[in-house]
Amino acid sequence: MKRVAIIGGGVAGLSAAQELLARGFAVDIYELNALPGGKARSFDVPESAYATSDGRSPLPAEHGFRFFPGFYRHLVDTMQAIPFPGKHCVAENLLNVEHLNYARFGKDVASVPVGSPRSLADITKLFKLWLGKTGVNMPLRDLLRYSARLFRLFSSCDQRVQNQYEEIAWWEFIRANKGSEAYRRYFANGSRILVAADPRKASTKTNGMIMEQLLMDQATGEADRILSGPTNNVWLFPWLHSLLQNPSAGFTAMPGWWISS
Ligand SMILES: Cc1cc2nc3c(=O)[nH]c(=O)nc-3n(C[C@H](O)[C@H](O)[C@H](O)COP(=O)(O)OP(=O)(O)OC[C@H]3O[C@@H](n4cnc5c(N)ncnc54)[C@H](O)[C@@H]3O)c2cc1C
Repeated sequence: MKRVAIIGGGVAGLSAAQELLARGFAVDIYELNALPGGKARSFDVPESAYATSDGRSPLPAEHGFRFFPGFYRHLVDTMQAIPFPGKHCVAENLLNVEHLNYARFGKDVASVPVGSPRSLADITKLFKLWLGKTGVNMPLRDLLRYSARLFRLFSSCDQRVQNQYEEIAWWEFIRANKGSEAYRRYFANGSRILVAADPRKASTKTNGMIMEQLLMDQATGEADRILSGPTNNVWLFPWLHSLLQNPSAGFTAMPGWWISS
């Protein structure tokens, strides 16, 4: 049996371990931190249980990973192979969201129901959201420009997407320089919020394909799924425990409280 050393117990390292074990390899995972999960992990808010005397756990804080759009396939496949007490698997801890709410400084939350537009009322609501003064207040010409660019992208053949759009930055493709400040903020720089990508560098192929999938997911009602509890409890710890059930798996990390729990 071959043994594989995996450096890092984040989502990539744990996924690699799962796939290698399934193929008959032995694995040793080495993690620098006391907690597994890397950037996906949750952690305790320091001293948040300070005033309690009833043994309550500290409040959970999330490092980040809470967005599981419908187009995620491999991650959900991986989660389906992780057992969870009282359920078939960890993937059952993913819950579909009903609304997407966009927080904005000094303004009301902009809310879009998932699975819309389905009716004239939904379309009216969306137009009010994008064009209305209390909404995004986007100039109509900007909305039309963006729609036209998306139409061009979505109706392009695979060869064009692979060969041409890989070479064009998203910023350039949607003509961000021609748009208003709102246009650049939402349609160009939105890629920073969604996929941490600089729109002046991210390719139209990468950004555009993500945008296409997100819009399809929004229309079909799978825009986002969230976890039903702290990431460690409902995903990462069950994952590591299930990997370590296999006698061919080892995990070495900084000593931490979670090992005994
Ligand atoms: C704020 C934030 C929000 C995010 N939200 C989402 C989201 O909603 N949806 C989504 O899909 N993605 C999201 N991401 C991205 C996602 O969290 C990461 O892409 C993913 O967790 C990366 O996993 P990884 O295993 O590749 O790397 P990491 O998570 O970085 O794991 C690397 C691991 O290796 C360990 N390590 C490093 N050096 C060594 C060493 N020398 N020896 C041993 N161990 C070592 C580290 O401690 C770490 O545990 C978010 C990221 C951030 C920062």
